[in-house]
Amino acid sequence: MSSDADTVIRTFSELVDELPQRETGEYLVDSIQPGHVVRPESVDQLAEVIRGVRADRLAAVPWGGGTQMGVGNPPARYDVGIDLSAINDVLRYDADDMTMSVQAGCRLADLNQMLGEHRQVLPVDAALPERATIGGLTAVGSSGPRRLGYGPLRDLIIGMSVMSTDGVVTKGGGQVVKNVTGFDMMRLHHGALGSLGIIVSMNLKIIPKPQSERTVIALFDSLDDADQAAREVLQSQLGVTALVVTNPEATREATDSARSNWAISVRCEAPPSAVVRQAERVQEYVASNAQDVTTEDSTDASQERWNRIGKALEQRPAQEDVSIRLGSTASKLRATAGSVAHTLAGAEDVRLTLDYGSGLLYTRFPARAVNESEFQVVFDQLSGAGDHITVSTAPANLKQSIQDVFGATPAGFSALESLKETFDPDRILSPGRTIGKL
Ligand SMILES: Cc1cc2nc3c(=O)[nH]c(=O)nc-3n(C[C@H](O)[C@H](O)[C@H](O)COP(=O)(O)OP(=O)(O)OC[C@H]3O[C@@H](n4cnc5c(N)ncnc54)[C@H](O)[C@@H]3O)c2cc1C
Repeated sequence: MSSDADTVIRTFSELVDELPQRETGEYLVDSIQPGHVVRPESVDQLAEVIRGVRADRLAAVPWGGGTQMGVGNPPARYDVGIDLSAINDVLRYDADDMTMSVQAGCRLADLNQMLGEHRQVLPVDAALPERATIGGLTAVGSSGPRRLGYGPLRDLIIGMSVMSTDGVVTKGGGQVVKNVTGFDMMRLHHGALGSLGIIVSMNLKIIPKPQSERTVIALFDSLDDADQAAREVLQSQLGVTALVVTNPEATREATDSARSNWAISVRCEAPPSAVVRQAERVQEYVASNAQDVTTEDSTDASQERWNRIGKALEQRPAQEDVSIRLGSTASKLRATAGSVAHTLAGAEDVRLTLDYGSGLLYTRFPARAVNESEFQVVFDQLSGAGDHITVSTAPANLKQSIQDVFGATPAGFSALESLKETFDPDRILSPGRTIGKL
């Protein structure tokens, strides 16, 4: 698509009645209900919507599967939700080249089902893959535990098309793996929560599907013992694809175990002939100091174990839980977890998941455990415990009690402000939601 001087721009209020609409009550962001939610059915219709929103100076928030809408500051304004789930074509799939081009509304589970027929996979996790969309995954820019084995989604993106607020689609990167053109543009939109443009399509690298997997689980009496085992496996040459440590509360949730222990879960993915030996080697590494060591000894059981571990990381209704993600490094995770446990010592049901592959600590606790002023104190203390912080879920009143859910304004923030000014001068895209409330 290109800019067309003859394009007649209709305001949103002029065209809204012609658009497919959704029930607005299902599209709350931080308890704010928009006036309209539209679900464009083509890229051209999306362009009309964006131009109309801009003409009326409204504020729009894009939606994919809606699984991570809790990430971000409360929007400064929110008039229109744009549901992108109908923009979901697979534009190109080249199994021999192991690349594909897909529209942003494609769901991860659907893509992986299609790729599975060719024994290929897009190796990223999502809390709810049957709902999570490629656009949403990119705009959030998170990673799951399998980042250890496969890297972040960012590294699988070889091209991207993004719609600006005048309805024009810009392309960066390309269709081939060896391509650096437009690389910076792709990095900009990864993690920007849709505040700089609407992701329309992506070109992605895919990989051969691992043929089988096993998961080794070892229980420990203390964080120190679990941490030591985790770091030994990490430093080994075993090539495991995910490694997390869970505190007793999170372990119980992931295993239904009545026992109360710290646990390490290690994922091995390889051809059948190699995976059993790999799991045995992991067992040998973690056995010293462990109270118990078991292996999920089928691919299905191993996958189910990681679905359960992932559930502890997924978003829950904001009224119920607070979720906070702290960035650290594998070598500092134990100390970071110790600080968090100290800060939250009075709270019940605190669940900690230490992702050694990403150097991230996920903390979850019931929202009822803190009022607004207590939350400010907790947030300040946790901010000091890690290198960076993100509140992924919290009731709106708790989010509003702190300066920024992404913590301190980063160095170089003025460059981000300039980008926002360039890409979205009228502040119509997710205003206030991203870092520094841009
Ligand atoms: C256990 C676990 C593992 C995970 N593993 C990974 C992983 O390996 N890799 C990874 O990348 N993520 C991972 N995630 C993060 C998460 O699953 C995804 O980011 C999430 O599913 C987002 O998809 P969605 O379609 O539901 O987005 P939504 O919740 O609908 O949207 C998320 C954000 O993106 C914006 N947005 C949505 N669509 C667009 C668009 N087309 N253009 C611009 N902005 C848009 C929205 O406004 C919103 O701010 C993981 C999460 C968990 C809990």
